[in-house]
Amino acid sequence: MLKRIVLLGPPGAGKGTQAEQIAKALGVPHLSTGNILRAAITNRTSIGLAAKEYMDKGQLVPSAVVFESIRETLETVPGYILDGFPRTLLQAEVLTGLAASRNEPVQAALLISVPDEVIIDRLASRRSCPKCNTIYNLKSKPPIKDETCDACASPLLLRNDDRPEVIAYRLEQYAKEISSVIDYYKGEKILHRIAGDLPPEQVTEKILKVLE
Ligand code: AMP
Repeated sequence: MLKRIVLLGPPGAGKGTQAEQIAKALGVPHLSTGNILRAAITNRTSIGLAAKEYMDKGQLVPSAVVFESIRETLETVPGYILDGFPRTLLQAEVLTGLAASRNEPVQAALLISVPDEVIIDRLASRRSCPKCNTIYNLKSKPPIKDETCDACASPLLLRNDDRPEVIAYRLEQYAKEISSVIDYYKGEKILHRIAGDLPPEQVTEKILKVLE
């Protein structure tokens, strides 16, 4: 099984949900730069302070800040599923540089694609647990108790950047940056496209087949 993997796809494609499953199946850590940055904001670290204003507006956080948030971990783990990184060509190149210095190249870039209208619907009903990062959907995967996390009983939140006016902007940003990242991994011959508009278990199955 391949075990150094990047997951690409628009916000709401199901990257977080899939990364959790794949990480469990492969026994590698799920590194979500979004989760790491949100935790940094909660803990008021210098990385969190630098990231907050960008994240609230749905803008990309400067690459140096994002890279700083994962560099140490990436330098030590034997495998990973990276969710939300790289988001730009520069980030893809930086990741390749780090991987090359350890002689452990990225082995697969999985692109999960989902139509825009499905994404907008999914994000508006997405709720996240700020404490344990469990993701719910009020329509397709509601919590047992109203707006409360099943796993840790914290009140669920609509992320600031999942507000409808910010979603449109995030999708625009994604479209602007991602094509160069896709071309980059195509050039490396490790890009795989996965249809994300299916029940989550079926998407996981497809991904695991690709990684075999
Ligand atoms: P996510 O949880 O992946 O949707 O990310 C939430 C937000 O975190 C994004 O809208 C960005 O503001 C920031 N972020 C996460 N990963 C990156 C990245 N690789 N580059 C820049 N900003 C990022």
